[in-house]
Amino acid sequence: MRLSSNIEKVIRDIAASGSSGRSFYVYELTPMVSKIAGLRSALPERVEIFYAMKANPHPAFLRAALDAGIGGVEIASIGEGKKAIEAGFSPKQIVFTGPGKSPEELRWAATTGIRLVHIESLTEAHRLNSICSELGTTQNILIRVNPNFQVHGAQATFSGDSSKFGIDQNQFLDKLHLIIALSNLSVQGLHVYSASGVLVASDLLENCRRVFELASVVSERHHVDLCKVIDFGGGFGIDYLETGADFSLPEYASGLKALIARYGYEDRQFVLELGRYLAADSGWYCSEILDIKSSLGVKQVVCQGGSHHFRRPVALKINHPTSIVSIGRPPVFEEQEEVVDEEAFIGGALCNSADKLTAEPIVIQHARIGDIFVVGLAGAYGYSMSHLDFLSHERPEEVVVP
Ligand SMILES: *Cc1c(COP(=O)(O)O)cnc(C)c1O
Repeated sequence: MRLSSNIEKVIRDIAASGSSGRSFYVYELTPMVSKIAGLRSALPERVEIFYAMKANPHPAFLRAALDAGIGGVEIASIGEGKKAIEAGFSPKQIVFTGPGKSPEELRWAATTGIRLVHIESLTEAHRLNSICSELGTTQNILIRVNPNFQVHGAQATFSGDSSKFGIDQNQFLDKLHLIIALSNLSVQGLHVYSASGVLVASDLLENCRRVFELASVVSERHHVDLCKVIDFGGGFGIDYLETGADFSLPEYASGLKALIARYGYEDRQFVLELGRYLAADSGWYCSEILDIKSSLGVKQVVCQGGSHHFRRPVALKINHPTSIVSIGRPPVFEEQEEVVDEEAFIGGALCNSADKLTAEPIVIQHARIGDIFVVGLAGAYGYSMSHLDFLSHERPEEVVVP
């Protein structure tokens, strides 16, 4: 991965300031801001962009999204809801998803007056309805459907199988009237999030088409007003493997416009909840190389951090782009080893052989003890998705570049 000279300088400055032996995230929000601007100009006006804040709940990401004019945030816990409001989002910019919302969380949603609760089961519908009836309020909801189909080429799918998410598509049409009958809930539409990390726009568009099919059946059997809002969830992929095959926003935008026209859905409201696509390229995880040694003929690079700081590559078995920032520290001893144009394992400080910063060994041009190992596309599902307390090491700093 090629680091911009600005990011490289920031990393170098942080590494040089303070003591040696550190790990940190660098966040630089310009990519996120331009992603939001790009989405806004490419997509039809009736498509609202929400930030799925589990990708990165750091206040800098929330504020950048807000300042860039994002439609709102998708939350999945009361904690996320409170952080969003603290960052300046209004309750009317919040939608709430998640298969296990507690009664306390549902009550918080209803009293705070958030825009939409995505209902994931009949139990949840009844629970929320009772709370609202007690409070004397009505809550707008979308019903989350577990679709019958699977999206091709996704890193993770949530559909086409038995699932804790949503109500099965083949039960949904029979159960819908039971939810409509709940007088303190107002059904606004559907939520169908089928897959994450999809790089091929046509695969996600096929998802949209099937959701439109479902929406048209609902409108036929019941009333158009039950499907005023259609939420496709997230899923735009990021090219972690640097194949050059980025998700094509222009292809997605023109395909979606065509589908909207084909179904005559110009009067509906659409929602995208994007996490990875917005946040991934605004973050870098950096960790000092504490040791380099040969083991059975292969170089082992040992960083100060590890999977407790950045768990994604090893947990999802996918390499991220990487880079080395050379710091030029004096050698610890004369004959110390280095890596020169060879394959190396990149491990961390944990006493656990699963602790790696890349899923597979990688070829490194040159790395010395004291250099900084940098992992790119670490702005999404980094810090907050990692097991930060494992072995009671220090947490990495999170440094926001102004
Ligand atoms: C995680 C999540 C998202 C974001 O998914 P990405 O693949 O990061 O875009 C959107 N909606 C819901 C309901 C989610 O759980």
